[in-house]
Amino acid sequence: MPVRLSVPKEGADGERRVALDPTVATRFGKMGLSVQLEKDAGAAARFPDAAYPDAQVLDTAEVYAQADIMVRVAPPTVAEVEQLPEGATLVGFFHAHRSPEVMAALQHRKILSFAMELIPRISRAQSMDALSSQAAVAGYKAALMGADLSCRFFPMLTTAAGTIRPSKVIVIGAGVAGLQAIATARRLGAMVEAYDVRSATKEQVESLGAKFLDLGVKAEGEGGYARELTEDEKKQQQEALAGFIAKADVLITTAAIPGRPSPKLIPAGMVRGMKSGAVIVDLAAEGGGNCELTEPGKTIEHGDVIIHGPLNVPSQVALHASEMYAKNLLNFLSPMIRDGEFKPDWDDEVIAKSCLTRDGEIVHAPTREAIQGDAS
Ligand code: NAD
Repeated sequence: MPVRLSVPKEGADGERRVALDPTVATRFGKMGLSVQLEKDAGAAARFPDAAYPDAQVLDTAEVYAQADIMVRVAPPTVAEVEQLPEGATLVGFFHAHRSPEVMAALQHRKILSFAMELIPRISRAQSMDALSSQAAVAGYKAALMGADLSCRFFPMLTTAAGTIRPSKVIVIGAGVAGLQAIATARRLGAMVEAYDVRSATKEQVESLGAKFLDLGVKAEGEGGYARELTEDEKKQQQEALAGFIAKADVLITTAAIPGRPSPKLIPAGMVRGMKSGAVIVDLAAEGGGNCELTEPGKTIEHGDVIIHGPLNVPSQVALHASEMYAKNLLNFLSPMIRDGEFKPDWDDEVIAKSCLTRDGEIVHAPTREAIQGDAS
């Protein structure tokens, strides 16, 4: 009997993405897997059931009960995990430390789980890196959100009614999302300036035609990530940043530190110094926001400044975000499928390090420590 690969309809509020698009579903079919789709699983991403010619369309109970492997986007609920057969494999985002009860359910059902966010960010695994693919979607959309909320044009316009100066867009945090926001704002014709605490980003920012703001604060952490700033560094950063921010028409913030709440870079006083009609798009809203005034999930006005704190931005570009995520899944799972059978090679560091639970145990040490620490 072929390995059954199940794709559920995502249940999380506002989630429009689906784990497999029709093209990738067909690719898995060609590898000898039987793809099972929950009815309307792709509908919100604009993939109707009929677009998956090689998939079997099932109801909710069947798609869970008959899964050998389930692929999904958003973390599962306890009830969803409990519907899976004992020993099934589950792949998707988990953010495990936020939900010990889901971890307990995974252990109880002896689920073999792989967390997409744990895939090591090494060159070989770039094509599997869902954090990057979804961050790129978010960065693109953030620039569009800024343009949409702004009362000004992004490009310079020379018209019979006069010449309009281009908008000044500042991007803070030039990781994957920030670089895509820079590229998109540039394509829309804005003048773009950007800042990051990692010096490697200067060249990347400049290669996109933006100006790098050197604030004299560098904070390289482990593994190519940023570290948290000291209080003195924070003060120096804010003092240097204030003058630039005061001239921005749109400010896009994407700063993040792995495993920590979003660093607060934009205090209320700095917002009050901004231009009338300026817009802040705080892509870090999910982690509490880079701006002190951000209300996650809301658009507010503080004085004359609009502060937008969007959540789950990739879901707003659901079709392409799903296609990219599905490719990440395909590249991650393909090496584990040999002659139509599911056989993970545990000597492969990408597979071993992304595994969350196996045989009833939490095998990812930091998650185990975080959860056992919580329990004690
Ligand atoms: P992220 O989402 O963790 O953070 C976004 C950005 O915020 C980072 O560039 C970070 O330096 C910056 N930041 C943090 N604190 C800041 C502060 N106080 N002020 C200004 N900026 C601040 O980052 P990410 O996009 O996930 O990428 C982080 C790193 O991972 C980068 O080095 C990137 O090149 C690397 N990466 C590697 C791979 C790979 O090799 N497969 C793939 C993607 C990313």
